[in-house]
Amino acid sequence: MLQLARTRAPTLVRRVPRQACAWPPLRGYASAADPYDVVVIGGGPGGYVAAIKAAQLGLKTACIEKRGALGGTCLNVGCIPSKALLNNSHMYHQAKHDMERRGIDIQGVSLNLDNMMKAKDASVTGLTKGVEFLFKQNGVDYIKGAGSFVSPTQLKVALNDGGETEVSTKNVIIATGSEVAPFPGGSITIDEEQIVSSTGALALKEVPEKMVVIGGGVIGLELGSVWSRLGAEVTVVEFLGGIGGAGIDEEVAKQFQRLLAKQGIKFKLNTKVTGAEKKDGKVYLSTEGAKDGKPDTLEANAVLVSVGRRPYTEGLNLEAIGLETDNKGRIVIDSQFNTSVPNVKCIGDVTFGPMLAHKAEEEGIAAVEYIKAGHGHVDYAAIPAVVYTHPEVAWVGKTEQDLKAEGVKYAVGKFNYSANSRAKTNLDTDGFVKILTEKETDRIVGVHVIGPNAGEQIAEGVLAMEYGASSEDVARTCHAHPTLSEAFKEACMAAHSKAIHQ
Ligand SMILES: Cc1cc2nc3c(=O)[nH]c(=O)nc-3n(C[C@H](O)[C@H](O)[C@H](O)COP(=O)(O)OP(=O)(O)OC[C@H]3O[C@@H](n4cnc5c(N)ncnc54)[C@H](O)[C@@H]3O)c2cc1C
Repeated sequence: MLQLARTRAPTLVRRVPRQACAWPPLRGYASAADPYDVVVIGGGPGGYVAAIKAAQLGLKTACIEKRGALGGTCLNVGCIPSKALLNNSHMYHQAKHDMERRGIDIQGVSLNLDNMMKAKDASVTGLTKGVEFLFKQNGVDYIKGAGSFVSPTQLKVALNDGGETEVSTKNVIIATGSEVAPFPGGSITIDEEQIVSSTGALALKEVPEKMVVIGGGVIGLELGSVWSRLGAEVTVVEFLGGIGGAGIDEEVAKQFQRLLAKQGIKFKLNTKVTGAEKKDGKVYLSTEGAKDGKPDTLEANAVLVSVGRRPYTEGLNLEAIGLETDNKGRIVIDSQFNTSVPNVKCIGDVTFGPMLAHKAEEEGIAAVEYIKAGHGHVDYAAIPAVVYTHPEVAWVGKTEQDLKAEGVKYAVGKFNYSANSRAKTNLDTDGFVKILTEKETDRIVGVHVIGPNAGEQIAEGVLAMEYGASSEDVARTCHAHPTLSEAFKEACMAAHSKAIHQ
């Protein structure tokens, strides 16, 4: 049985004999004189994209991944399974509560959670296998195991099927991603059954009667929405005074909270969770007011601890090459993804910046381009963020509070979906598009969308910002009618002069 998905012989310098060997005989292939050009450690969106790009640029490439499936956090326990559950729970909720007014009578709608989970798992498997296929197609050697440094050009791999091997390479890209951050102070232990992380919340066996989500950031709100739609009474406890996490515009955050509250999600803001006690099949969370210290207790059948993620470098043996992490555990890099060790680069969640799959992918491509051509590019001012609730929330660039803090003179153009013909036709009118421009130049510096398909709409904002567009540029661009994207155009018209339909 082949353990590597490859189109040519892997470049291995030494093979340690082992019992459960799935690798073909390597004698004759291995040669320290013929190393890989690039070995990527980690097959998540950062790592697998880097590996494919490297192979496309003619570099001899391998990717080491220990999970047993490619795609990293994103495909296996992140973006993809959460979006599968968000989409299907939304359809269930619509079928139950939103069809009659559309002239569709459906009787006897009921939830089949097992099948919903199977549909989620099928999406995950299809996509992770798809990446494996792309590796084969592009000639990337897929090494299934845990990689660690012997030296900057020599890696040891503890193979998933047993035994170990060594790989020599001219360049390494570290893309080992992130892991769930534990509850600060250790007063709550995640058991992935009743007190779950995002990973456990993607696979609950039944709908909890009462669910408490600790943390009102993107992941908490998405997964809280899923279980709320499926019937749980969800309370989100957030230490800060607003929801949505870092980077969200405050006006959007307020509207977002109002809309989620209308859907039945309860919020306890400015509240700190201090501990949890399990009793009689329930969890009792102790809380206190972040400002006044007022104590309270919340009862739940399930608790989602969603307080963030932290960089993951365990087992890499960074000490062997003298690579240090900063006080947040991140690998320190320069603007060209170089670590402090020559020929070792680093990308994605394990280093600086927002923990987002598309940010990791951009960095993967740029890092490889630096290796191949000496130049690459990621525009960190134009990385979009999306919350895939309903309505969706998406943004790129500066918020109003950023511009105020920076003392930038700015203009605001806003357009409500309630005045957009397509949103009205679809009976889906909650939210707005908000464009922020630099007053003097009319250049778009921030785009904030809360509304249907905001995650798709934000691409127009990102493109506009990449091209340095003014709001007038977009306002004078013909948008198809009737589409939601007209709200974007109208918001730009409002920023530049006046909207027509509002
Ligand atoms: C519930 C949830 C929902 C999310 N939704 C979104 C979303 O909608 N959009 C979005 O942009 N982002 C989302 N994210 C974040 C996204 O998943 C991450 O930003 C992204 O996966 C980071 O990619 P990465 O390649 O840096 O690391 P990862 O995806 O974490 O991949 C790293 C890989 O490296 C492997 N690895 C680690 N150490 C070793 C080693 N020593 N040897 C071999 N392999 C190793 C790991 O097994 C892992 O597979 C979500 C995350 C979660 C948890």
